[in-house]
Amino acid sequence: MPPEEGGTASLVEVFSSVQGEGPEVGRTTVFVRFGGCDLRCRWCDSPGTWRPVEEARFETAPGSGAFEPLANPVDVDVLAERIDAFAPTPRAWISLTGGEPLLQPEAIERLARALVSRGRRVYLETHGLHADALARCVDAIDLVSMDWKLASDVQPGPGVARPPGLDFHDAHQRFLRVATRAGAVYVKAVLTPSTRDDELDAMLERIAGVSTEVPLVLQPVTPTGGVSAMPGAGRLLECLARAEAVLEDVRLIPQTHPIYGVL
Ligand code: SF4
Repeated sequence: MPPEEGGTASLVEVFSSVQGEGPEVGRTTVFVRFGGCDLRCRWCDSPGTWRPVEEARFETAPGSGAFEPLANPVDVDVLAERIDAFAPTPRAWISLTGGEPLLQPEAIERLARALVSRGRRVYLETHGLHADALARCVDAIDLVSMDWKLASDVQPGPGVARPPGLDFHDAHQRFLRVATRAGAVYVKAVLTPSTRDDELDAMLERIAGVSTEVPLVLQPVTPTGGVSAMPGAGRLLECLARAEAVLEDVRLIPQTHPIYGVL
């Protein structure tokens, strides 16, 4: 008998830690990392999620850093039950992340609904390009954290076509329109020394075209992978002022989890 739609998921790992980015920074969060990504960001800190893996891992106790193996594909209903039992506090966020979780839309839809039915708060961390996939599950998502990828630092993954001359802006704007139907949404843009004013302006114009009230987090890059330095303080303040001239809720927030060295 073929597997039920959305009945299984391909994961990399499940663990409990602290949200290190964005407006919910510092809150206890269970991270459910899905395997596979169709982009290649120069600063990516989780290249181990780019391709599906045969065997995922599940932390044995929240925050222990010890793991036990979990064979892929994982039964989504069993996974929801296990995450619910594992989450250390009733208010802990459950972050569906990756890789790119919306490459597995049926599994995300089924898992998000199963978690919500157990009273859990679901946080979706996505590169923000697959609007049709989001539309399937958006009503079950409490908070969408969508990246706004800038072409100076991000390329499609191997075998993924992008028409010449087309940046990510159109796809992001379409995605954002769908994401406004979730409980809440914010946009995150990573700033590097390569970030150009013209691409920042194009992003700001597209976000404002949906709503000037959409929160925007400007995140100075954490030097990693192909990026060796963050922009200087003057440049960061310049980007902040540029964004505040267009949008009503802009914050400059670096990643915090690398400071104390958790996953
Ligand atoms: S979208 Fe996320 S997982 Fe994929 S390459 Fe970029 S940062 Fe890494």
